[in-house]
Amino acid sequence: GGEEQQQERILVSVRLRPVNAREAERGDGTEWECAGPATLKFLGTIPERAMFPASYTYDRVFDPECSTRQVYDEGAKEVALSVLSGINSSIFAYGQTSSGKTYTMLGITEHSMAEIYAYIDQHPDREFILRFSAMEIYNEAVRDLLSSDTTPLRLLDDPEKGTVVEKLTEETLRDKGHLLELLAVCEAQRQIGETALNETSSRSHQILRLTVESSAKQFLGKGNSSTLQACVNFVDLAGSERASQTAASGMRLKEGSHINKSLLTLGKVIRQLSGGRNGHIPYRDSKLTRILQSSLGGNARTAIICTMSPAHCHVEQSRNTLLFANCAK
Ligand code: ADP
Ligand code: MG
Repeated sequence: GGEEQQQERILVSVRLRPVNAREAERGDGTEWECAGPATLKFLGTIPERAMFPASYTYDRVFDPECSTRQVYDEGAKEVALSVLSGINSSIFAYGQTSSGKTYTMLGITEHSMAEIYAYIDQHPDREFILRFSAMEIYNEAVRDLLSSDTTPLRLLDDPEKGTVVEKLTEETLRDKGHLLELLAVCEAQRQIGETALNETSSRSHQILRLTVESSAKQFLGKGNSSTLQACVNFVDLAGSERASQTAASGMRLKEGSHINKSLLTLGKVIRQLSGGRNGHIPYRDSKLTRILQSSLGGNARTAIICTMSPAHCHVEQSRNTLLFANCAK
């Protein structure tokens, strides 16, 4: 071991959601469509947008008819299941508010969990320990989503483990049902926080983390070298409009600028990594990237699903989302 592995590219896909009732009522036209499995076309139905490039290529593009199953299979599965081989990974949903991040991420999390459990069932010779934790980052404060204690958690630097979230609850999963219970707890905690802080989910980043430890049966827990341990992070990012200048210069400057910082830092980190550059990677500039450092870069695998509304009224934000996607590929 120890040899440097070939740096894997970051898997970047774009998912268009269906036009919703509100957009349809306004008579908004569809500005984007898929032209093949990896190409997105800007239809350019209005003349002043003519300067937008007409075509964009990613690893995969998903049209509004695609199921989340398909998005999972082709845009996330390989990255999620690397956790079973002892490789850390992160899967992000990036896009403006109401573009489908939560919808997409929930489905991907569920499909990943189902496949991880199926894999465990197919490997009776190995023993597995699954641990789950969940956190939210709002205004650069980290909150435990499995605890009713809303005190912000500190980040510590552990010489072995890297950045550790101090006192973060970690539950050992008994079974799939237990996971569903915990997901419900997360959702409840998230909503309580939203009410207490008068925030909305569009301003916070949510990280669900599953850690998988496995070993041949007779060795589990004995620190044997055959033990594999890794985590997969499912990250539902704050609305990408929070990274825009207008959001940062408005009334909610504090939230805007902090979220700006995390999203901008993530963008910088992703850009450095995807460029295969060896220079300084600014993981430490935001809580989000510090927490995810060991699951970004190095041997870790990354998938980014950029979600977009195809509607005309969102064309500027969709364009910003694609600029982020372009940086990542
Ligand atoms: P975000 O998390 O980016 O703010 P949501 O995931 O909450 O957006 O999606 C906004 C709304 O659109 C929700 O009602 C959601 O159910 C719906 N939606 C999003 N993506 C899809 C999709 N691909 N197919 C059907 N409905 C979708
Ligand atoms: Mg959401």
